[in-house]
Formats: sequence, C-alpha cells, structure tokens
Amino acid sequence: MAAHRLSPSERRRREKLQVKRQNEKQYRRLMALPQAERNAFTSKRQRGVYAQRSGLVRRVRAAHACAVCGGVCQHSHHVDPASKSFELGKAALHSYAEIVRESAKTVCVCAKDHRAIHMGKAALPSDAPRLIIPPEMLPPQAPLKTVRLARRIAWRSRIRSN
Ligand SMILES: [Zn+2]
Repeated sequence: MAAHRLSPSERRRREKLQVKRQNEKQYRRLMALPQAERNAFTSKRQRGVYAQRSGLVRRVRAAHACAVCGGVCQHSHHVDPASKSFELGKAALHSYAEIVRESAKTVCVCAKDHRAIHMGKAALPSDAPRLIIPPEMLPPQAPLKTVRLARRIAWRSRIRSN
C-alpha cells in the first residue's frame, strides 16, 4: 500500500481531486436531464449558487465583444491551452476565486470565430483584452480574499496593457 507513504499535503491534494471528479461526474449527469427534471435533484439554494456563478461569467462576457469580429461575446477562448484548468462554461462547479483566475486566462470570442481559431482559420489579435473580472462585479457574498485576488489581477492586467 502506497497510500500511507504519501505526505499529508499530497494526500489532501488527491482527496480534493477525487471530490472534484465526483462533482464533475454528478454535474454532467445532471446537465443531461431536461430542466424540469433537473430541478427535482437540486435544492433551491444550490440552483441559486449555480446561477450566481455562471451569471458572473455571463456578466463579464456582456461587457466584452468578440476579439476577432467585434460581435457578441459567447465563448471564452484560452490563449494558452497549456494553462487551462477548466471550461468557463462549467463555472457553476468552481469557486469565485477559481473563476476570477481562469477568466483572466481567456479572451472573448463569438462561437463562429472560436471554431475558426481552433481550426486555424482565424487569428486572435495579439492585443486582444483578457476577460478580467472587476472586483465590483463579484457578488456581495464573495469572500474578501477573492475580492483582493480580483483587484490584484485587474491591477496587473492594467500594467501589462499600458
Ligand atoms: Zn467573432
């Protein structure tokens, strides 16, 4: 048994990962159901949490336009695929801090241009702005630590673009 040879931090990391995988599996199964059936499995409070988190992504997208054509911002394109941790379409599964961090790795594009970029038929302008979530866009129940993180990321991006 190799399990007891793991360091406590490594064990904690693996436990967290396992919970995350279980959550993702559950979420995928849930999302495959029609809305009416879905509601039978989630509490009103949980639905509120999901809506808040995906709403945050929706609000920041609404403040941007497609970096390629200037059209409606529908997708978040990861500029560096190697640093991608999750799809922002599944933001409901992640904490506000994770969403803030992940969003800053992406650029807003419309669905058509997102496909074109991945097929190599469109290029992203090098000065395309990242999807930075301003701290004031966070819901009031977001932890102070997350508000500070958002402030730091917004500040850093401002320096980079100047
Ligand atoms: Zn576009």
